[in-house]
Amino acid sequence: MEKVVSLCKRRGFVFPGSEIYGGLAGTWDYGPTGSLLKKNLKDWWWKDIVQLRDDIVGLDAAIFMNPKAWEASGHTEAFTDPLVECKSCHQRFRADKPAEITSHEKSHPGQKIEWTEPKTFNLLVKAYLGVVEGQKSEVFLRGEITNGVQVNFKNVVDSTRVRIPFGVAQIGKAFRNEITPGNFTFRSREFEQMEVQFYIRPEEAEGMKWFEYWKQNRMDWYVSLGIRKENLRFHDHAENERAHYARAATDIEYQAPWGWDEFMGIHHRGDWDLRRHQEFSKADMQYRDPDTGEAYTPWDIETSAGVDRSLLFVLIDAYSEENGRVLLKLHPRLAPYKVAVFPLLANKPNLVEKARGIYQELKKDFSVAWDDRGNIGKRYYAQDEIGTPYCITVDFETLEKQDVTVRDRDTAKQERVPIAGLASYLDQKING
Ligand code: ATP
Repeated sequence: MEKVVSLCKRRGFVFPGSEIYGGLAGTWDYGPTGSLLKKNLKDWWWKDIVQLRDDIVGLDAAIFMNPKAWEASGHTEAFTDPLVECKSCHQRFRADKPAEITSHEKSHPGQKIEWTEPKTFNLLVKAYLGVVEGQKSEVFLRGEITNGVQVNFKNVVDSTRVRIPFGVAQIGKAFRNEITPGNFTFRSREFEQMEVQFYIRPEEAEGMKWFEYWKQNRMDWYVSLGIRKENLRFHDHAENERAHYARAATDIEYQAPWGWDEFMGIHHRGDWDLRRHQEFSKADMQYRDPDTGEAYTPWDIETSAGVDRSLLFVLIDAYSEENGRVLLKLHPRLAPYKVAVFPLLANKPNLVEKARGIYQELKKDFSVAWDDRGNIGKRYYAQDEIGTPYCITVDFETLEKQDVTVRDRDTAKQERVPIAGLASYLDQKING
């Protein structure tokens, strides 16, 4: 884990938030490579979920919402974690995370630790809107992104041609006053989520069919990202583990360096959200079947994944060391740079000029890195560390034969490829 954290800092994936001021717990900044990786992950998700499907549309709701929306969804009352305090050092922890409690007790060797009784602690982050001091209204930074979709259910139905069953997809920031942010980006106070709310007929068999469908669909997606199957598993929630409104819930878990932990959740939310928003807002949140005229409140199967958590697990899973060198075996679609271009020698203007031409041309279609420092071996290692799957070297033969050497990150094998066919060669390798 320390090695991944240090690689992330060293190679520009993730930096501690506001580091020069001593940081701010639970915040992280994505650097030049990390922001590309994050964008690639989100783009892949969006393509898979929205672009390639006929039954899901997208949405991008505001972070601020009328506070009544949070009352309706139960967040002002029940978006809580049980908080306990170590009576010895006054550090606070979540009572529902026994491993964290035990680990903290070990930090006071030889002492019998006493804990306060668990108190419920609301995770919503407050903010104040308005320009007149004393008349500002209290709002919340959204604790999860679901609510913006739920309140727009009618707008989506009325403005598109969706028919049940259909889904609404969204990617966006969420904020939680986490009691114990930690394990690098795993639990942060500001993070991003990618979610689908999938609306179905309110029938038991339909509910279980789509719940099982989304469980498998999401598991398959994580495997397609290149995460090893043996590091993924389902954790079905028993009734006492589930949110009070959930009819069924499963987590996909990852075998993290600190043990199996939650990657994402699939939740059968029933009609909880639409029913509550109808009650609180008095707006009609029912769906009317355009063929039969039948009206009902649909059920919702939600898939909710953290972008940052997904990235962290992708990075941990891709990290490897071979013969003393670090290799980030990222799926080519996720890699920040798809290809790097090198002139064999930086002091030969004809090689540099030729390589620059190839670099500029490939940039039109791919994210491309340029490197002319040090020797070729060092350049390969530098690209391996950030997961660049292909490296192109322009040498003297290139000038004669109009072809280049392409070296594969994982096999270290090299082959000659004509310059004219490079873009389609790479496209085939990256996108299949
Ligand atoms: P945990 O118990 O680990 O705090 P949770 O069960 O409260 O998480 P959900 O409310 O189900 O999480 O949120 C859905 C997803 O959003 C999680 O599976 C995770 O991927 C992501 N997520 C939730 N909280 C955080 C956080 N503090 N930092 C990063 N990602 C988070």
